[in-house]
Amino acid sequence: MKILAIANQKGGVGKTTTAVNLAASLAHLGKKVLLVDLDPQSNATMGAGIDKARLAHSVYSLLIGESAIRDTLVESETGGFSVLPANRDLAGAEVELVEAEAREGRLKAALSEVAAEYDYIVLDCPPALNLLTLNGLVAADAVMIPMQCEYYALEGLSDLVNTLKRIKQHLNRKIEIEGLLRTMFDPRSTLAQQVSDQLVKHFTSKLYHTVIPRNVRLAEAPSYGRPILAYDKSSKGAQAYLQLAEELLARHNALEVAPAI
Ligand code: ATP
Ligand code: MG
Repeated sequence: MKILAIANQKGGVGKTTTAVNLAASLAHLGKKVLLVDLDPQSNATMGAGIDKARLAHSVYSLLIGESAIRDTLVESETGGFSVLPANRDLAGAEVELVEAEAREGRLKAALSEVAAEYDYIVLDCPPALNLLTLNGLVAADAVMIPMQCEYYALEGLSDLVNTLKRIKQHLNRKIEIEGLLRTMFDPRSTLAQQVSDQLVKHFTSKLYHTVIPRNVRLAEAPSYGRPILAYDKSSKGAQAYLQLAEELLARHNALEVAPAI
């Protein structure tokens, strides 16, 4: 079982698209997957085909201790995975948890009850280094950082890396950067190519080989409540996210069979 947080405090870099489609691709490859929506925008919830207006419980009620995790779980019919869904209420969690005990560890504690039933738990974090993201990073084994290859892409990265260092020191010793993912890549853009080359130079082993291309089908799929595999399986976007899931599985298998020295 591995808990993977998809995080970058920069907005609109492809976190949610990656969380939903990685979850669906891993499920397609036979893995038991849970997707957790930690963003009050609830885009991952909607992208997985779940009607947020009809939720009995949500990540919000879970974090403030008003619902049990098993009562909060719902199934994504279009994705083939389980979901801890969010709605707007989640925006209030920040305020309500300010005085609460062990407020950064709420998600970790809740997930521990069901974690053994999954191969992968994927956390979609909001675009901020706030208490919700912190709950994600405390619960996670590793972080995947989606990045758009544009001029300011690297700017926020040091803040994120510094935050991760502090979390590793104080709250979660096992957290690692699992990898950086190039998203919305346009091979015809010289700038994208240059930024990509910079990433290859600086982050060699931490950079996924798989690159997610800009693909309009990926942007269309959420409005149908479908991951890309259930919307247009033959699209470049669908193939890229499947390849990412395969790369991830190959990496993890390699680590598991590596002899302990
Ligand atoms: P936020 O920070 O607001 O949570 P995010 O990092 O989760 O944003 P997404 O919501 O995944 O980013 O993507 C931002 C927008 O770009 C969305 O409209 C999405 O459909 C679109 N998008 C994401 N990835 C791609 C892609 N590879 N090709 C085309 N459009 C994409
Ligand atoms: Mg998002």
